[in-house]
Amino acid sequence: MKKIIAIIIAAVISITICAGCDKKTSQTENENIYSEIDLVTGGQTEYSILLPETPQPYEETAAEELQTFFETATGISLDIHSGGDFSLGDPVFALGDTALKSEAGIDTSGLDKHGFIVRRSDRTVIIAGQDDRGTVYGVYEFLERQFNYHYYTGDEIVIDRVSDCKLIDADISDAPFMPDYWIGYETSESFYNSRLRYRADHDFDISRWPHSHFSFLPPDVYSAEHPLWYNSGKTALCLTNPEVMEEMAKVVIQFAEENPEVEYVMLGAEDSWAKCTCSNCYQSDAQYTSTGTDIIFNNYVADKLKEHFDPLGRTVDVVSLNYFNTEKPPVVFNDATGKYEAVDEKVIPHDNVYVHVCYISADYSASLTDSKRNAAQIVNLDGWKALTDNLTAYTYNGLFINEGLVFFDDFAYKSDYIKTFGEYGYKFVFMEGSPTRVATFEPMRAYVTAELFWDPDQDVNALTSDFIENYYKAAAPYIQEYYNKISLHMSEMKAMYEAENKNFGAYVQFEMNDYLRTARTWPQRVLEQYLELFDSAYEAVEQAGYDTDLYEKMMYRLRAEELSPRYLLLLLYKSSFTASEYDRLVQEFNEDSASLGSVIRL
Ligand SMILES: [Zn+2]
Repeated sequence: MKKIIAIIIAAVISITICAGCDKKTSQTENENIYSEIDLVTGGQTEYSILLPETPQPYEETAAEELQTFFETATGISLDIHSGGDFSLGDPVFALGDTALKSEAGIDTSGLDKHGFIVRRSDRTVIIAGQDDRGTVYGVYEFLERQFNYHYYTGDEIVIDRVSDCKLIDADISDAPFMPDYWIGYETSESFYNSRLRYRADHDFDISRWPHSHFSFLPPDVYSAEHPLWYNSGKTALCLTNPEVMEEMAKVVIQFAEENPEVEYVMLGAEDSWAKCTCSNCYQSDAQYTSTGTDIIFNNYVADKLKEHFDPLGRTVDVVSLNYFNTEKPPVVFNDATGKYEAVDEKVIPHDNVYVHVCYISADYSASLTDSKRNAAQIVNLDGWKALTDNLTAYTYNGLFINEGLVFFDDFAYKSDYIKTFGEYGYKFVFMEGSPTRVATFEPMRAYVTAELFWDPDQDVNALTSDFIENYYKAAAPYIQEYYNKISLHMSEMKAMYEAENKNFGAYVQFEMNDYLRTARTWPQRVLEQYLELFDSAYEAVEQAGYDTDLYEKMMYRLRAEELSPRYLLLLLYKSSFTASEYDRLVQEFNEDSASLGSVIRL
């Protein structure tokens, strides 16, 4: 469980812009939130930023972020000093490992990974992390508390504007529930996602991720001379061939030599169910399971890496991709002990092998430990845990189905997944999202997931409502109603199909749920009601009096989310249109879909 000690209470409602200072009101309402110290008076401040004499890169980032958003909130650009003659009590934000931190007796070494302390000492505010990344997160916490700063997406950052305000009376300590996570793709590709505490720069920077076998030993380079290194279709490596093991170790060592920053190298099969069926592989799979064959191969390469790099004082670990043929852990259940055991000692991952377990067949509309709907995932969780503590997860933030413009109702179980990975001691969790921005509710899904990785005990409905309010603005009431309706509809469909013993889960792939794109699941009237809500949403934006930039941003957001009901109506109810009307609507849909960045066409 994560620990949070917050002496102050943040103001609850975010206000994008407020003229002048709203802090007087807040102070009256919450007498203890603000100190008596002036932070900004008449658009002026005495404060500046203090860094250690030789700041770490993330400490510099922390200073730049504080400077940027302090200026957005107040119009004042704070000076940044590296070291200098400052005393505890001076009006300064002391970031990271400064002398003032020591003087104040603040010890961050015992905090959880990437945790931080934000503490006021007279006029000085000390923001210090367990490591330098923690200091960055401490800055965001301060901004959130002081100015109601909130990052929803790269183009939706909310912060108060003030010209007079008191300093908050801060004594806060916090740390992320899951120290290392990554939410892919579109929403995770820039530094700015750390503003959402995405951990875009997570510690598990896995090279050659995820399908890497052929990137190291490409068939077009090797197969002519070594046909037996591959299966007959040249779609998979022969993992039991000693020459393949030797060559893989050699090229991975060479790769790591050429790339001195590399710490983790993935050895992952190609993206298919293909595998070698030579007699050695057949025998190995029968004795050790397919996963066991893969782990034995990875252990061999990992040993060679250790042998090579240990004397150089460097660690390069192997990460296995446990996906399709190699997802299931190589274990047997021992009835006598009630525990899983390795099928053979050889299949136990060595200390420098991490397993990256891919939860591709899970039902994301149920608990990950639901014994009926996710029985196979429980075997994955318990079986892999019995073999190693070097656990990492490849999981999904709602791909393929959302990207296919069908709402994928997984919000309710996001915190369950995150908590389960935490309880099982997973060291890194990747959640694959959509590579496009127009998968259903993609920006909101990324936001909610990032929030829950930080603290999975948060109320998901409160997070979605807060997002909708700030992201859709004037259109928010209609999008909230759409979201409520479609969530309820999907839960009703689930209950209906399950009453008929039909599987209606939220899976990563369309093929796993036969009922998802059917007229029965999406009655015409239901889709038309959704589109009526979008009509009202557009109307609200039209009447809001936004400037051109904001107007266009809002229209983009509505058009992106409206693609789903438009698509389903045209896909499932062609006969309810005249031929010419249908052709026109399809053409419009296809043009909009393309211009908004979706790959879906009718
Ligand atoms: Zn083979």
